Amino acid sequence: MSTLVNLQCSCATIKGTVNIVQDSFFHVACLCCDCQNYAAHLKNKKNILDEHGGTDIVQTYPAHMKITQGQDNIACVQLKTKGLYRWHTTCCNMPLANTMNSSKIPFVGLPVQLMQFSSELEKTHILGPVTMKAFGKYAIGNMPKDVHARFPISYIPKILGFMIKGMFGKKNNPSPFFKDGVPVKKAVILS
Ligand SMILES: [Zn+2]
Ligand SMILES: [Zn+2]
Repeated sequence: MSTLVNLQCSCATIKGTVNIVQDSFFHVACLCCDCQNYAAHLKNKKNILDEHGGTDIVQTYPAHMKITQGQDNIACVQLKTKGLYRWHTTCCNMPLANTMNSSKIPFVGLPVQLMQFSSELEKTHILGPVTMKAFGKYAIGNMPKDVHARFPISYIPKILGFMIKGMFGKKNNPSPFFKDGVPVKKAVILS
């Protein structure tokens, strides 16, 4: 089963789609300091983070995501050398996606905020609940009870299985962020 969901940045300059395919995505939340620092870099914490400093994310394959409009407004940063590529919009300073810093890895994590749902009910129906919340030790205020303090070990076999399936299926390509293996924008390293 799969469902095509429209993507749109907060000012509607950038548009695209993500195909939510059963057993090929994870709905997670990340409260890590890197994601919080990134939101601070974009000077947009209030619109990006929830009250605990978390970001709601769907992790899936690059081949399942398309940017159809506004490509000129995409930029990329790395918080440190060899860090994740953090793709964002320059029109409204919203995160677009995280990828590995290589086009070969079949992984993209995109914020649920980009996804256009007609209602909370539709969102829950398509994405299901958040299945893993990580890095609660960085939570703003008290750590919520349903969040793991760090990255849970129990999740590693699932993500490895996902990666292996993606490698065999060549799901790294096409990607909205790499063309012939080269990033569509050069990453700016922040530190
Ligand atoms: Zn925008
Ligand atoms: Zn994070």
